[in-house]
Amino acid sequence: MTPLPKPAARPAFDFDRAPFLVIWEVTRACALACVHCRADAIPCRDTHELTTEEGFRLIDQVRAIGGPSTSSGQAPPPLFVLTGGDPMRRPDLAQLVGYASSAGLTVALTPSGTAAATRARLAELKDAGLSRVAVSLDGPTPEAHDAFRRVRGSHAWTMRIIESTLDLGLPLQINSTISKLTLPYLEAMADRMMHLPVTLWALFFLIQTGRGASLDQISAEECERVLNFLYDLSLTSPFGIKTTEAPHYQRIVWERDHARLAQGLPTHSVERKRQLRAPRSVGDGNGFVFVDHVGNICPSGFLPVQRGNVRTMNLADVYRTDDVFTRLRDPNALMGNCGRCRFRAICGGSRSRAFAATGAVMASDPLCAYVPNEVTEPIVNHA
Ligand code: SF4
Repeated sequence: MTPLPKPAARPAFDFDRAPFLVIWEVTRACALACVHCRADAIPCRDTHELTTEEGFRLIDQVRAIGGPSTSSGQAPPPLFVLTGGDPMRRPDLAQLVGYASSAGLTVALTPSGTAAATRARLAELKDAGLSRVAVSLDGPTPEAHDAFRRVRGSHAWTMRIIESTLDLGLPLQINSTISKLTLPYLEAMADRMMHLPVTLWALFFLIQTGRGASLDQISAEECERVLNFLYDLSLTSPFGIKTTEAPHYQRIVWERDHARLAQGLPTHSVERKRQLRAPRSVGDGNGFVFVDHVGNICPSGFLPVQRGNVRTMNLADVYRTDDVFTRLRDPNALMGNCGRCRFRAICGGSRSRAFAATGAVMASDPLCAYVPNEVTEPIVNHA
């Protein structure tokens, strides 16, 4: 391993001013009952959901927040993701996509694998300005996927969404959950990704919250193996790879990149695919903000600590000044191993998992196998 470079003064991408991603849970209604569901999705729409007009006002707020600060100025406004539940359960979805797209936002959608996501409906959303579809695939076979989703036929609906998305020429993101239940399928899933024209493979590392509280998560050692497997895959995959709630992938990338540089080999960073991706780790409340179906503002859907509501408060004000949000962006407020770790500024551990495990948002992430020796200056940039 080559000597570590001196830390730069500031990260190249600063999330204090604005997030990279705003996720809006447009509804909690969903026909599925997935075993890992953080939202504890319900069969019918909540009568207190944000209305169409309130959705428009939220979109105005997202547009007004602007982009994160970068070393060369200001990035574009946040990527706006409409999620659920199943967002297809909202009849005004095309209106919301159209309004957001007209406001200059890049809009992505995460439909559930159900019959509601027809080709005609996706075509309508594309015409309204939709930029990307992200769909969950949690097993390499129909049986494995349907067992995880707890609905027979969900795999077939998911494949129909994938075909429609590709047929419409929309970029496709596949989301897969990593847990004890799905870990045995990792290599087979990677093989499937290599045979699908996906733009991004996003791996969600289980947080034991909502219905996911009853599922087993992988061990820290297994996580280390998964992250190294993903790094190896990233060197040859034609698609981008992203981890959610496993920011220690940034540590693996940093360590493996430096090892490759020492051997004169091209690095992950050089080859990284950047389609609609942040150039650094995005974490709960740190580049990321979640608005739930009734307007509550949280650092993440997996960290259900409500810090305000868009019906009465401004999203930018809460994101920038709320004490939990500002603490989540302060690597020196971290505790335990994460607080001592030199990777705390580019990783920082999953705040959702720390909260789910201990009740403390700044505690150490129990899914990380790295044991720091002593408190050192944090590394703040990859390159
Ligand atoms: S100890 Fe914490 S900050 Fe360091 S690599 Fe692990 S999760 Fe990240």
